[in-house]
Parts: sequence; C-alpha cells; structure tokens
Amino acid sequence: MGFDQFHGNAPTVTHLREMIARDHLPHAIILTGPRGAGKFTLAQMVAKAVNCLERPLAADGLPDFCGLCHNCERIAQADALDLRFAEAVEARDNLREGDKRETRIFVQTHPEVLVIPPDPPQMLVKVDQVRHVIGQMYYRPSEGRQKFYIFSESNFMKEAANALLKVLEEPPSFATLFLLAENSNALLPTIRSRCITLRLAPLTADEIGQDLTLRTGWTAAQKKLVARLCSGAVGRARSFDLNGYLAARQDARLILTTALGTDDHSALFRATEAYRAGGEGKAKTDLLISVLYSILEDLIFIKAGSLDLVHNQDMQAELTGIAAQVSFDWIVRASDGLGEVQNGMRRNLLRSLSLDGYSSSLEL
Ligand SMILES: [Zn+2]
Repeated sequence: MGFDQFHGNAPTVTHLREMIARDHLPHAIILTGPRGAGKFTLAQMVAKAVNCLERPLAADGLPDFCGLCHNCERIAQADALDLRFAEAVEARDNLREGDKRETRIFVQTHPEVLVIPPDPPQMLVKVDQVRHVIGQMYYRPSEGRQKFYIFSESNFMKEAANALLKVLEEPPSFATLFLLAENSNALLPTIRSRCITLRLAPLTADEIGQDLTLRTGWTAAQKKLVARLCSGAVGRARSFDLNGYLAARQDARLILTTALGTDDHSALFRATEAYRAGGEGKAKTDLLISVLYSILEDLIFIKAGSLDLVHNQDMQAELTGIAAQVSFDWIVRASDGLGEVQNGMRRNLLRSLSLDGYSSSLEL
C-alpha cells in the first residue's frame, strides 16, 4: 500500500511527492498521459498522501500514505471510478424527469475529495459541475488537510471552461485541482497557462511485463502479448480481457484468410453469424474492428521491416505470410473498408452481412 504500488514514471511521482513534502502542491495540475497510464490512480494517491492521518515516510524519505486510516480508506472508495460513476448515473436515471435535468454527475466518497467525471450522454464537463466546485471549494477543509477536485477527463463545454478559468485566477490556498487529459492541447491555452503540466509517459512493454509478473492465470507468453497489445497503458494491461481479445482475433483472422482464399466461406459465415444486433453485438463488433485495425497495422510494420513494433507478436510467422501476399494498397483499402463497416453499424446494417461483405471486398 502506498506510492510503491504505482508502476512507471518514477520522476513524475517523485516530483509530486517532493512538492507534498515541501507543502507546496500547486493549485492546479494538468496530468496528461495515454488512457490507462494511471492518471487517476496517481491523483488519488496524492489526495491520500496529503490527507492521510498517519502520513508515513517511505523508505526513500518522501511522504507516503498508509491506505488504512479513515481518510485513506474513504478516498480509496472512489478508486474504482468506473463503478462509482455507473452508480451515480444510475441514481440519476432513477430520479423524476425534472430532477434528472437538474442533477449533475459527481463521485464523492470523502468530504475533501470530489471527482468530477464528464457528464453523460455528451460526456463533457458542464458549467453546473464547475459551479458546484466553485460553490464548495472556498470553504476550509474540515476532515483533512487539503481539498482536491479531480476532473477525470478534461473535456469541458465552453461555458464550463470559462467558469473554470475564474477559479484558476483566484484559487483558495487549501485546494488543488487535477485536470486529467490524454492530451493537454484539448485544454484552452488560458487554462494551460495557469496550471503546471505533468506528463505520464507510456510504459515500455518490458515495464508492463514486469508489472504483470505476479498476475496469475496467464502464461509468460500471454503476459508478453498483453504487454505489447496495451501500448504502454498499465491500467489497461491489468484488466485486459485476453480471452475476449483472442476470440475476436480468431474471427479477424478468418475474415482475412477467407478473403485471401486460404479458408472457405462457410467457416466465415458461421463466425459472423454470432455478430448480432443489440448492445452486446455492438461491443463484440467494436472489438473485432479494433483487432482488425491492429492486424492491418502489424502487416504494415512487417512490410516496412519494423518487426519490433508488431503488436500480435505471437502471430508474426502467419502475419509475415499474409504480408507477402498483399500490397500496401490492399492494406490501405482494407482499413478504408473497416471505416465503412463502422459507418454501416451506425446505420444499423446487419452486422454479419456487412462483415461477410467486407471480407469479399478484400478478395485478391
Ligand atoms: Zn492513511
């Protein structure tokens, strides 16, 4: 329990902890990094370390958190953000129509730490959410040392961004705002200039592999594959649905081998029949499409001789065979065609037919 549980990006983590040690945490921190790099986890850790009732020192002499005290425990209830977010959305859905419109989504499990997720269905931070932050951030903390406001995805509506700007001009001394973003360019320059920006870099496949060493249920080769597939995102790697991925990849492969004439159509029809209408079918098709994209990308890497970039390394021999049969033009056509399949899904075309059609459009 503590900062040693955070994997990778040691300089950024140390930098934050040194600021906590000096009681010098900035009022607004933009934390950028790819999805799954641990932006939210790190913001939560900082909130715990500042408000921990024990506040132990770690082996390296920097502030840490105990994870067990009343404050750490309550803040940690928001660690499972997806779950808390879904609960908040469900609670709102159960309200009466009029109240529903007035209610904004927040996750708060400790009085000093408020998480502001983007508000569905638009998935943007709305001005009412920022007003709510303004409404409470100027009151001194009562159950901790410092208040934290964590915007878990910094996609602001225009009015919300302008309201936030006012807060950043005159923040109270006892509050810190975290703006988490995949890319800080998504934020207004006027906001960026009032924050410090810290960046979490993607982890290397080796670093992710190390993080997965203790995970049970996967072989060493599977861990290596997951590390490659998650392009540097340790959070994604930890919760990766390997079986789902492998099943989708089997179908993706069938689509390509049928197009190239190495498999007959009946196997493909059997596979695509399982892609049905409805939410579950959509998730299955989305996954299949993303796997197809990653395979097409691998074919390009192989043709270009950049073997170390190949995601599906366990399939490299087979992919090399396919790469030898097709041209760059074919790969471009195949990925354009995937875009059309996605459009077709939006128009609710029958998924199995559109996947069969996609495969035959790629025949040589
Ligand atoms: Zn604690």
